[in-house]
Amino acid sequence: MQGAALLAAALAALSVLQGVPRGAAAQRAVNQFPDDFYFGASTASYQIEGAWDEDGKGESIWDHMLHTQPNLTADGNNGDVAADSYHKYKEDVQALVGLNANVYRFSLSWPRILPTGDTDNINQAGIDHYNDVIDELLANGIQPMMTLYHWDLPQELQKLGGWPNIVLADYFVEYARIAFENFGDRVKLWLTFNEPDIFSIGYATANGLAPGANSSGIADYLMAKTIMLAHARVYKLYDEQFREAQQGRVGITLDCDWYEPLTNSTEDADAAERQLQFQLGMYAHPIFSDSGDFPEVVKQRVAANSEAEGRTRSRLPTLSQEEIDFIKGTADFMGLNHYSTSLATSGLKGSIPSKDYDTGVITSAIEGYPTGEGMTDVPWGLRKLLNWVHEKYPGYQIFITENGFADPPGVLNDTGRIHYHRGYLSAVLRAINEDDVPVIGYSVWALIDTLEWMSGYTRKFGLYNVDFDDPERPRTAKASVSVLGQIYQSKEVPLQDFEDADTMPPVL
Ligand code: BGC
Repeated sequence: MQGAALLAAALAALSVLQGVPRGAAAQRAVNQFPDDFYFGASTASYQIEGAWDEDGKGESIWDHMLHTQPNLTADGNNGDVAADSYHKYKEDVQALVGLNANVYRFSLSWPRILPTGDTDNINQAGIDHYNDVIDELLANGIQPMMTLYHWDLPQELQKLGGWPNIVLADYFVEYARIAFENFGDRVKLWLTFNEPDIFSIGYATANGLAPGANSSGIADYLMAKTIMLAHARVYKLYDEQFREAQQGRVGITLDCDWYEPLTNSTEDADAAERQLQFQLGMYAHPIFSDSGDFPEVVKQRVAANSEAEGRTRSRLPTLSQEEIDFIKGTADFMGLNHYSTSLATSGLKGSIPSKDYDTGVITSAIEGYPTGEGMTDVPWGLRKLLNWVHEKYPGYQIFITENGFADPPGVLNDTGRIHYHRGYLSAVLRAINEDDVPVIGYSVWALIDTLEWMSGYTRKFGLYNVDFDDPERPRTAKASVSVLGQIYQSKEVPLQDFEDADTMPPVL
């Protein structure tokens, strides 16, 4: 090595140790995002669209569940009208403009496009609607990011058992093909699934999410195999038949909170790691790791518990070597949803059989931080999670597809949300500029108030308030819009806020 190169290498090594930005990051101030960073907001079809049976739309599992069991949501409400975005999408686009967003993450309603889930009936009115949304976004300089599946399965496919039935992968591939064919000329950012870890709850319990299949520790695992294969097949479909002409990117959105060990014991460190593996690794390891397949710890524990229950095989489905190889590497980036941080310790919870029981971790609230409705504002948890993901699955860019704070209804001066996003955006900056984690985008959940699943309209994540008592569903900017709008426009967190943001772990 020449003298200059040696010096550069030594400085680079030193900068790693000191946490000083390196490479391109060195050109930027510590509180600045890369120039090409995506700043946006997210929504999902069932939570905002309404028009549940308009223009040929079919019934989804959410329509079905909340029509037949309206008492399942906290306030007895459902998504029949929601924020009426099917009709008011132009106002949603203006809301994004007011936020200075350059990307909008939203989802397609499968039964709006294929009312029976299959290609026997392709609903042109549904396709037209999404074309209108996409065109309106592009006319306003906003990139569409499209999620193919954010939980509203056509009810007709639930009659086949839903996702635990491997045949659903065939249906999903055909649906995805229609989406690529109709929207791929303009949509360049795709997500196959939103949070399989969370929507698997719909197969584990009767009164959690739809469809309420109530097969704990069995259907929620069976589903994982279908989802992994469906995702991989759609990725390959894009790769082989659409990528060259359309030049887009396909990922999947996974969710994970951060789990900090309760004490500094090895047992608690193992418990925190195990929780991350059961929640995130279950769906990330098959796609993003070098070896593929479900994580070892998940395979071992479910197999051991299954044996103890007297079963002749594990409740966790197996992937053949051919399937492992097929799924491995099928993503252009990882979408990551993150909300909160908890403490983890080893211990048994949940019924037998259940994923909770298999995980064997007891989580508890972390004290001393601001809280929202069901979450704790701990920015360094996101920084640690980003580092964990990058260490486990190097080589993949990360797009934060959801991060958000919940208020009770009616809070327009949303100081809690402002505090949360300043802190979390500062934590993302530290992950990018100090830790070299390749984060490429940040999209707030949610653009507007939504039907918050089982909470109905009692928990609000929107940057814009929606008045659900008014038939016009008016949108009103909360105070957070101008704060985030300023950050999105300048591509930096004001230095004082960045420095004030609590991104350092506490001493436990
Ligand atoms: C989901 C959203 C949901 C949000 C807040 C995520 O789990 O993707 O649909 O509204 O969290 O609970």
